[in-house]
Amino acid sequence: MSLSSPYQDPALCRALLDRLQTALDGRELRFMEVCGTHTVAIFQSGLRSLLPREVTHLSGPGCPVCVTHDAEVAAFLDLAGRDGVIIATFGDLLRVPGPGGRSLKHAQARGARIEIVYSPLDALNIAAANPGDTVVFLGIGFETTAPTVAATLMLAEQRKLDNFCVLSLHKLVPPVLRALLDDKDGCGVQAFLLPGHVSTILGLEPYGFLASEYRVPAVVGGFEPVDILQALCIMAEQRRDDAPAVVNAYPRAVSDQGNPRARALLETYFMPSDALWRGLGLIPDSGLALRPAYERFDAMKRLDITLPDVPPLPGCRCGQVLKGRITPPQCPLFGKACTPASPVGPCMVSTEGSCAAYFKYMA
Ligand code: SF4
Repeated sequence: MSLSSPYQDPALCRALLDRLQTALDGRELRFMEVCGTHTVAIFQSGLRSLLPREVTHLSGPGCPVCVTHDAEVAAFLDLAGRDGVIIATFGDLLRVPGPGGRSLKHAQARGARIEIVYSPLDALNIAAANPGDTVVFLGIGFETTAPTVAATLMLAEQRKLDNFCVLSLHKLVPPVLRALLDDKDGCGVQAFLLPGHVSTILGLEPYGFLASEYRVPAVVGGFEPVDILQALCIMAEQRRDDAPAVVNAYPRAVSDQGNPRARALLETYFMPSDALWRGLGLIPDSGLALRPAYERFDAMKRLDITLPDVPPLPGCRCGQVLKGRITPPQCPLFGKACTPASPVGPCMVSTEGSCAAYFKYMA
């Protein structure tokens, strides 16, 4: 990593580490990040090894591929076997193992029509080029990705591309934070490092319950070492002062109000729905479904897709990793049967997965 940015300045980092140590004053701080980019940034910058011993870093359910449930992967595989269907998906999803260890990559090798795209707009262009087929975009991801899907639906309407649809399995961050705190066998999280990207859309208000109901400090943080350390200092100071609050420590990218235009677009096309999360199960109103007015773009309805009951991946403990209950090396398969070259679970597949990050930077 280049050290040219002021947000990577070693002297500033040292000063922030001193401030953190002072604020901790011997108290433990178990913080969780809920963003795959934070997971990687904390490892890549070397911060993890510099943190005071009182600080425990937990990785949460912030990697979109990792939280995609086995039943959802099974639905993708079912879809891949249908005639007249072209699947358009982000590349990470291709290698996620489903029931029996099968993945979309295996399906593609057997002839399924699966296209890797870099944006949902690419999927729309595939639909335009293949008018005799139905193009299904696999809609995974959080509040950051979903507005781009909503914008694509708007364009599909304008371009009258009726052979385009979305399998919306998007997930929402605030409900999963509540579910983590309500989990009786939880990991004892004491503070959240809130996701910078998601917060550019949401702003601060949707996180208010963390401080007001659960008395848990929650800080929106950027992705550079100085950003992350500053967020940790604020968390530790809030705990020292018994003054939990939701704070924006990333104002150069996140406005306290978020992005109202993106939220309006989301609300036009989507409505909250129950969603399945790997490791956490069904969480009420934690997903996004297409509104009835846009049923024609809803792959779930149009192609009569159901999420089957499937057993979890044998031996894989991604669910425990995503809830912060274990660290990846505590999974018996880590670095042995499960490596990035031969992943058993999704947390080893995605570049934002914590198993992959541990393997790359700690193993
Ligand atoms: Fe799953 Fe592999 Fe991580 Fe174990 S090491 S939790 S099998 S992804």
